[in-house]
Amino acid sequence: MKFLVDQPLAGLARWLRLCGFDAAVINFSLRKTLPSPAPETYLITRQAGFHQRQREDLLVLAANNPEGQVAEVFRLLKLSRRDLAPLSRCGECNDLLVPVRREAALGLVPDHVYHTQATFFQCPSCKRLYWPGSHPARIIARIQEAIADPPASVLCQNGRSESADSDKA
Ligand SMILES: [Zn+2]
Repeated sequence: MKFLVDQPLAGLARWLRLCGFDAAVINFSLRKTLPSPAPETYLITRQAGFHQRQREDLLVLAANNPEGQVAEVFRLLKLSRRDLAPLSRCGECNDLLVPVRREAALGLVPDHVYHTQATFFQCPSCKRLYWPGSHPARIIARIQEAIADPPASVLCQNGRSESADSDKA
């Protein structure tokens, strides 16, 4: 799934990347035509004028902070925590992270982090290191709190309540 995010929502784009989604920032203008629809690609803005554009791939958000906006995107697209892929993409560059051995992190992370983590994840572009417990990972934890799992009643509608139960086990 890919997102094209309006420039003022650059903070949301960063959070979507931390969730594992491909999120690019572009300028939306009511006077210009929007990018053509593409498979599995959604446009995101907060400009109320875009409510008039009838496009299924256009999300016009109401929330005014990244945390609320991520929750809104998840709700509108019926995504759940299972769609999260934490520590897979750089929040700044949008590049996919690659696992690196602990030795690569020597001197680049606090000592206690170096000694407690066996593996780190690195952005091939900016070389930033990510690990469980790092600031971006804590943002993901907040996102997991902000979004809900699909309610069991939704899963039951097609008569497969047993799958909802086994998920909880
Ligand atoms: Zn990066």
